[in-house]
Amino acid sequence: MAPLTSRARSVDRKPMTVWERMYLPAIAKGMSITFGHMFKKKPTVNYPEKTRPFSPVFRGLHVLNRDEQGRERCTACGLCAVACPAEAITMEAAERLPEEVNLYREEKYAAKYEINMLRCIFCGLCEEACPKDAIYLSETFAPANYTRKGFIYGKEELLIPNPVTQPEEFAKAQGNRAK
Ligand code: SF4
Ligand code: SF4
Repeated sequence: MAPLTSRARSVDRKPMTVWERMYLPAIAKGMSITFGHMFKKKPTVNYPEKTRPFSPVFRGLHVLNRDEQGRERCTACGLCAVACPAEAITMEAAERLPEEVNLYREEKYAAKYEINMLRCIFCGLCEEACPKDAIYLSETFAPANYTRKGFIYGKEELLIPNPVTQPEEFAKAQGNRAK
């Protein structure tokens, strides 16, 4: 049958020598490469025990901030949701009751606050739009999940621990990007 193109090349199939058929030079060459790598600096780290330092501009999982008295800073103004190009933020506002002054800093607060991490592009515009320093992007990843619903983070996941009742957890959660 005539070839379709003229690109076909005949392959040179020289018979292997006895030395080559023993595969010893090839094995020795392969082992020398392996041993060479054993003494080089490892490019991998034992995550999660060890982590690499983050870039100063890294933006990770959102944190809903509290003030020094442990009150939620968010006033449910909706500016973060309006600024979000991915429409990833939704919230429901509620009026603070007189007995809730120790829980919420402003007269209005977010009774419900959700971020869809599957939509989020971690641009940080919500952080920039917030007039209350109530949200910032931390140096933490959103952990993997098996369901799409698991990537919708509510206040339980986003709120930073209370600095008054949980000072250690608060300091740990604050990280280096806290305001
Ligand atoms: S980081 Fe960007 S995309 Fe993600 S919630 Fe904030 S504004 Fe939206
Ligand atoms: S996080 Fe900030 S911008 Fe968003 S609703 Fe709360 S106070 Fe407003």
